[in-house]
Amino acid sequence: MGMNIQVGNIVKLKKKHPCGSFEWEVLRVGADFKLKCIGCEHLIMVPRTMVEKNLRGLR
Ligand SMILES: [Zn+2]
Repeated sequence: MGMNIQVGNIVKLKKKHPCGSFEWEVLRVGADFKLKCIGCEHLIMVPRTMVEKNLRGLR
């Protein structure tokens, strides 16, 4: 699960961001992913494993 995640995809994660959104735009992939919150545009860097473990949707 999650092996096909590419830049430009929108991932839906299990945990809700404080702004209320579950969805993140993928800006960079690798050992760490750079994600932008769809709700508030907050940027985070997280390990690939965290994204894969918490993935609930991909588009
Ligand atoms: Zn947010």
